[in-house]
Parts: sequence; structure tokens; C-alpha cells
Amino acid sequence: MISILRLVALALDQLEVAVCVFDTRHRTLLWNDTFVQFFPEHAGQVHEGEDYRENLRRFYLSRLSEDELPAMERYVEEGVQRHHQQQRAFEFDHHGYRVRAASVSLGAFGRVRLWRKTTPLLPGMQDRINPRLVQLPGQISADTARALESLADGILMVDEQDRAVWANHAFLVLYGLPDIDSLSGLQFDAVYAETWRREEPTAGYARGVAILKERQRFSGAPYVLALPQNRWVRIVELRGTQANGSSFFSHVDVTASRRQQEELRKLTQHLESLAGKDALTALANRRRFDEVLDAAWRESRQFGSALSLLMLDVDHFKQLNDAHGHPFGDEVLKSFARVLTHVVQRPGSVVARYGGEEFAILLPDTDAASAAKLAEFLRLQVEGMSLGTELTGVVRITVSIGIVCTSHCAADAAATLLVNAADKALYEAKRRGRNQIALAV
Ligand code: GH3
Ligand code: MG
Ligand code: MG
Repeated sequence: MISILRLVALALDQLEVAVCVFDTRHRTLLWNDTFVQFFPEHAGQVHEGEDYRENLRRFYLSRLSEDELPAMERYVEEGVQRHHQQQRAFEFDHHGYRVRAASVSLGAFGRVRLWRKTTPLLPGMQDRINPRLVQLPGQISADTARALESLADGILMVDEQDRAVWANHAFLVLYGLPDIDSLSGLQFDAVYAETWRREEPTAGYARGVAILKERQRFSGAPYVLALPQNRWVRIVELRGTQANGSSFFSHVDVTASRRQQEELRKLTQHLESLAGKDALTALANRRRFDEVLDAAWRESRQFGSALSLLMLDVDHFKQLNDAHGHPFGDEVLKSFARVLTHVVQRPGSVVARYGGEEFAILLPDTDAASAAKLAEFLRLQVEGMSLGTELTGVVRITVSIGIVCTSHCAADAAATLLVNAADKALYEAKRRGRNQIALAV
């Protein structure tokens, strides 16, 4: 794991993303060159095994004024707490530039912190005070507007009918709007549609439109919307804060942290695959399955014991994906995997995801008749599963199963023959109409 993280940290140097990885007891494991560039106070100081507190102390020493120094230990403790809990990226200024910081848990391994430089959106913010503001006395004061213009996050103000009355420059940039007038009187869903008007609509856009519709029923909770060019914005509504019924929405660009999370998700998946585990279902993966099959095969040859193999394939799974979407398909595969592990409990048995919607079950010391009995039981269990959500309604699936037992192979045959024979039987079950079991002949 650590050598892979090291490679990722090196790769992130090329993207000018600073990385520092800590174990679960917040000891420093590794960092990259960009980290030392962004935080020169650590150059020649940071070392493997160093407590995160030391790192924070140097950080604060480099930025606190003398009269703030007595509070440093408190800042350090708060920093450690944040380190544990941070979910959202945040920005701060350091050595004259703005940095966006994200922190992601690596589970039992520890935590990684990532930083990238961001360009301040508002170089000459004084000149950018909105002219429209002058026409809206009472809604927002010049001081408030100046303060809101100085934020890196987009701010939208709406009246009691949810119509836009004002936005800061960061908001206009985020939504690609030429000026404040292009906003006037629009409700936010219309602003969102305007932003996408010249773009090819993506699944993310469709989901965004659905979220905005849903939000009219349940407002309050923060939500994330897709923007063109694979960017993302997180929106928080602050309702009821203004006496005149207007409300503020803050719009934060969360693209960087979403991308970093995505990179880490891929990395975790890769690590799980190396560890022999399928990321979606947590079953053994194909790689692990091939290993155990080989071992079980040799043992069965050596001791002359029976070894059975079931190959299972969900019927018409493509149709299910097409009808209800890939994410729902994923949930179905997880439920399917749970049924298999629930039923197959005998020590030594292995349930694996062979690939896609195909699964394999290895049953040592099991003859063909017992294997067929188990397969039929599994088939019935799957048939009886009631799946679905409010959106999909009740969804049912069926499975076809091919069965083979070692007694069907010659003594000098290879383990792959067993898989081929089970595959052939599975194909036969499909051919006969699916939702059935077939024994290799
Ligand atoms: P058959 O009864 O002949 O097996 O039909 P089928 O539609 O199940 O078979 P086919 O091989 O044509 O399609 C398998 C589908 O499984 C296509 C693929 O998109 C889907 N699939 C494979 N892996 C995954 C996955 O991880 N998640 C989801 N949601 N779908 C997957
Ligand atoms: Mg299938
Ligand atoms: Mg298949």
C-alpha cells in the first residue's frame, strides 16, 4: 500500500498537488515535493513517524503573530480534531497564495491530506461591486456586498418567491454568466438550465435537474450539482435569515475535492483488487478465486476428494441496467452477493465474483448431487428476492447455474478445465430458458 501511495504522491507532484499521508495514530508516513514547496516551513524538518502535532506547530509558528502564540497549543489540538473529521475541502491563505485543502480517510490505513493552489477569483474586487446593488436599497448594504464580493464562494440572494435579486462575482463566474442582468428575476433552476444551454446534456445534468425538483419539496439540506466540463458545485441554502423574506445561497466549487475523492476511490479499488477482494460486493475477486481454485484442485487430486464448482450468471441483467440504471444494477449485485454468502456457509467454500454479473462458488468435499441440491436452493432463494426502491417498484431477478464436479475430469487435467466445464453447463442452462440449473455431462 505504502509503495503505491508513494507513486501516487509522485504523480500528484506533476499536477502540483501537495500530499501528506498519516497513519491512524496521525504519524507522518510520506509526503511529496509539492508539499514542501507549498509549506516551506517543513523543508528539512518533516520526517517519517513525526506526529501531526509537530507539523501543525511549525505551520502555526510560521503564521501566528506574537500575541497569538500563547493560543497555539489550542489551535494545534483543534487542527488534530479537524484532521480526523474533515469532510469538506476548505481554503486558506498561506505565504501569499490561496490553498484549497482536502482530507480523505484511507480507512484502517490512516488519512491523506491534499492541497492545491487556487487562483483568487476576485483580483480587483473593489471595482466589481454590483451596480444593481445600488438599485436595491434595503435588501443589502454596501458593506455586506463588499464582504460578499470578497468571498471565493458564489453567493446568490433570492427574494421570497425564490427569484434571484443579487449575486456576487464568484457566482457569475461559477455559472458562466456574463453579467448580473442575465440573472435578473430568474429562479435558480432557470439559472442552472441557462448554464447548460450550450452544452451537451449529461447524466449529471439530468440528475441535477431532478435534485432541483426534489429540493422544492425538501429544502434545507446541502446538495451537489453537476456543472459543464465535469465541474461540481455544492449548494447550501440559508433561509429565513433576512427580515424581508429574502434568503442567501452559498455555492462552493467542489470540483477539486470530488476529483481527488474519485482518484482515491480508484486507488482503493486497485488496492482491494491486489488484496483479492472485489470492491463492489466484498466477495473474493477473480484473482483470489483463481488462487483458491488452484489450491483446492491440487488437494482434491492428492486426496481423491470430490470438488464441485458452480458458475452463476444473473439472467437478462443488461435489461435490468437499461431499465433502472447502472447504480441500481450495482445495488442488485450487492444484494445477490449477500444471498450467496448467507447460504454458502461451509468452511472451505469460497464465493467469488468472477466478473460482471457472473459469480463462482467453489465447494470442496462436495459431490455432484449435493452441489446440485445447493444450486437449486440458491436458484429458489434468488427467485424469491424482492428488490427495488420507491422509484423502480418491485424488481425480481433470476439466475442460471452451471455445475461441475471433479469426477468429470481426467486425472492429469488442469483446473481451468473445471471452469470450462461449469461454463458450458451454465450456457446449457441459459439455452434451455434460464432460471434453472444444469449439471455438466
Ligand atoms: P443473459 O441472461 O444471457 O446472461 O443476459 P445478460 O443481459 O445478463 O447478459 P449480457 O452478458 O448481455 O449482459 C451483462 C450485463 O451486465 C452487461 C453489463 O452492463 C452488466 N454488468 C456487468 N458488470 C456490471 C456491474 O458491475 N454493475 C452493473 N450495474 N452492471 C454490470
Ligand atoms: Mg447475465
Ligand atoms: Mg454474463
